[in-house]
Amino acid sequence: MLRTVAIVGAGPAGLMAAEALQAAGAQVHVFDAMPSVGRKFLLAGIGGLNLTHSEAMPGFLARYAERAPALRPFLEDFGPDAARAWAAELGIETFVGTSGRVFPKDMKAAPLLRAWLHRLRAGGDGRPPVQFHMRHRWLGWAEGGTALRIANAEGESTFTADAAVLALGGASWPRLGSDGMWVPLLAARGIDVAPLRASNCGFDVAPTGPDRAGWSTHLRERFAGEPVKPVAITAADAAGLAHRQQGEFVVTETGIEGSLVYAFSAGLREQIAAHGEATLTLDLLPQHTHEQVLAETRRPRGARSLSTHLKSRLHLQGVKTGLLHELLTPAQMDDPDALAGFIKALPLRLSATRPVAEAISSAGGVRFESLDDALMARSSPGLFMAGEMLDWEAPTGGYLLTACLATGRAAGLGAAAWLKAR
Ligand SMILES: Cc1cc2nc3c(=O)[nH]c(=O)nc-3n(C[C@H](O)[C@H](O)[C@H](O)COP(=O)(O)OP(=O)(O)OC[C@H]3O[C@@H](n4cnc5c(N)ncnc54)[C@H](O)[C@@H]3O)c2cc1C
Repeated sequence: MLRTVAIVGAGPAGLMAAEALQAAGAQVHVFDAMPSVGRKFLLAGIGGLNLTHSEAMPGFLARYAERAPALRPFLEDFGPDAARAWAAELGIETFVGTSGRVFPKDMKAAPLLRAWLHRLRAGGDGRPPVQFHMRHRWLGWAEGGTALRIANAEGESTFTADAAVLALGGASWPRLGSDGMWVPLLAARGIDVAPLRASNCGFDVAPTGPDRAGWSTHLRERFAGEPVKPVAITAADAAGLAHRQQGEFVVTETGIEGSLVYAFSAGLREQIAAHGEATLTLDLLPQHTHEQVLAETRRPRGARSLSTHLKSRLHLQGVKTGLLHELLTPAQMDDPDALAGFIKALPLRLSATRPVAEAISSAGGVRFESLDDALMARSSPGLFMAGEMLDWEAPTGGYLLTACLATGRAAGLGAAAWLKAR
């Protein structure tokens, strides 16, 4: 007998669950509140669609920090190589960029999504076509039962399935559909959910003077939007261990954001939660040694201004000099030894993460302890979960999509096995 499975959420996790269930012969119905599928996946395509990362498995797994053990079985079953092979099957060749990140050759998400949807909708070879129901919002469960409450333009109805997979995403970029509204619905069903928090996010700087809320008006007006590069950040991770990484970030109206900042965001967020603020250290001249910088700050500059001197001797200018003026006292700027020290290690205090709605992804979500090895809720047999709505986080670099695809596949396979066993 054909089994019916409801999947709520048509992001990469939900679509991967649909694929696994379709392959097992289930009649799959995918519901999503948005007018079209994979909105966040398509947005990721604007940045080139970093699908996965080419590093070896031990390093790859380590990116999921304390959640690596929980994700390991799913990522060992569907890891970076499998993700690339899967894309190739859909006609999308990938390449490894200089940083080890893996992208589709055309750096776009739309062709991959189009081919994927075509295959899901077509079915064939014992695979029933997947039915898509867009603009259908899941509202929870009909009282006392497992039927799903679904609302669309015509009103509310219920949908009864033999099993269900929730792949509702986190709470970042809610206008793309994942708004975190599911948290109280699952909590009411006895499923343990860690609060959703910003991950891979920007930060507000702590006041830089007694009468300032954050950056000075001068810094904000002159340099907001300016990239700081090259630069190295040293900061503690969530376990308290200091790391150094080189790259670039952007000065914003209220603080800092960008790929280098995202790499440190979990540790900085936890420090702020514990102590009310976090401090990171900037190396404004990562290619110079301290001695090289000191030799230049000590060099007599005659009638030249300090800014002109730093620019001509060290190529230190623009937003970098702006940060020094912003964060140091005039006396520190005038002391060649102190200045050299701060150019190589400039402390920057952060007071808050930017809101989760602005973040690339969210931390928190359904705790793995609430789920069995097949990602089925222990308290709700037949209810599976996948993707960013689970309680894990990872830096940017393709780790997010890979874990969404891997857990989506695991939830789909889990639901298929559960149905078969009944
Ligand atoms: C700007 C940006 C760039 C990114 N770039 C990358 C990248 O290059 N590489 C990478 O690995 N990751 C990237 N990510 C992260 C990645 O896109 C997400 O981690 C991933 O899309 C999450 O997949 P998901 O299927 O779990 O959830 P989502 O993609 O968020 O999908 C969840 C779906 O559930 C639907 N939904 C939610 N609630 C309901 C409801 N009640 N009823 C019906 N439907 C509902 C939503 O409409 C949505 O379609 C990026 C994210 C952003 C914001």
